[in-house]
Amino acid sequence: MRAALALLSTLPLLVAFPSAQIRAAKGLDIYVVDVEGGNAQLWVTPSGESVLVDTGNAGAAAVRDADRIMAAVKDAGLSQIDHLITTHYHGDHVGGLPELATRIPIREFIDHGANVQPTPQIDPVLQQYGELAAKTKHTVAKTGTKIPVTGLDWRIVSATGQVLKTPLPGAGAPNPYCAGFKRHDVNPVSGGPLGNTEDEQSVASHVTFGKFRVLYLADFDWNQEVELMCPNNRIGSVDLFLVSRHGQPSSNSEALVHAIRPRVTIMNNGPRKGGQPAAMKVLLNSPRLEDLWQIHFALLGGQEYTVPGIFIANVEEGATVPVAPLPPAQPGAAAPAPQHNGPAYWIKVSAQTDGSFTVTNGRNGFSKTYRAGS
Ligand SMILES: [Zn+2]
Repeated sequence: MRAALALLSTLPLLVAFPSAQIRAAKGLDIYVVDVEGGNAQLWVTPSGESVLVDTGNAGAAAVRDADRIMAAVKDAGLSQIDHLITTHYHGDHVGGLPELATRIPIREFIDHGANVQPTPQIDPVLQQYGELAAKTKHTVAKTGTKIPVTGLDWRIVSATGQVLKTPLPGAGAPNPYCAGFKRHDVNPVSGGPLGNTEDEQSVASHVTFGKFRVLYLADFDWNQEVELMCPNNRIGSVDLFLVSRHGQPSSNSEALVHAIRPRVTIMNNGPRKGGQPAAMKVLLNSPRLEDLWQIHFALLGGQEYTVPGIFIANVEEGATVPVAPLPPAQPGAAAPAPQHNGPAYWIKVSAQTDGSFTVTNGRNGFSKTYRAGS
């Protein structure tokens, strides 16, 4: 009897020990931070080396967005940002930088070089950006080169509109989704011209961590996708696609999304930016897709074009949401931004070198593991 009890009492320990070991195995963490339709991602390697990709919004929103980035920094236990990649100089990607730089040391500034789209709103931010970058290491990202991050293979696949010409290892097969590709004559979201904005300059990255592969092209334009992906798929397939341009249909063609066959996509959208029906159809129709995760419920998608709330980090608390998508704003007119300055939640990815990864919703704690080799 005593022996049996003793045995029983050791059982939970025996059971708990292996899983505790698995949990302790350090992987690559990626925090996709809610910056209300802008971008900020914090990447942390097993050794604690960090890459921040973009810094959220400018002006009154800068304090809010810096707070949210710092919450991820704190969660990761970091005391500095080792590498900051500013994908391009739009306010929703670089705006929070001056504020963030007062909160934490940034050791390296990586960007595409000179701004091609000066505006009275962004110029003062970029003045501060230049002053901060001059005080530390400043790297201009060039297509085909690597950003040295220990444990990762971080490759630039486009910058200043120069797309990768040589396929990545294992890639380069003909892309069957090129046949249906139709070029855009104007930006279908803004109605604005194409070709000479900061979006086209985006620093675009392909990152591998062992067998785990991620693609993030920032605001890389739809028409550039065919240049990168056709007639041959120079990227190959990926496990995780961090959706282009906040999930807007001015990017995210089938020629890109369906060809890279992501298992999981995460869309860093805002309540009224991204998630439009056209983009949602492409994403949800992607051949190998297991799940789409959203940073926000998308009013531009309505109830019709959305994933279950369990996959959405920030929801429309107390709102009645119509089935139909909200009509898009008139081209040129900015949609009124709903206030969402209270608590905000990230989506966190934790990946292992065998290619398995877990995605966690910071709001409800829902977590899903995608096994290696599927
Ligand atoms: Zn953007």
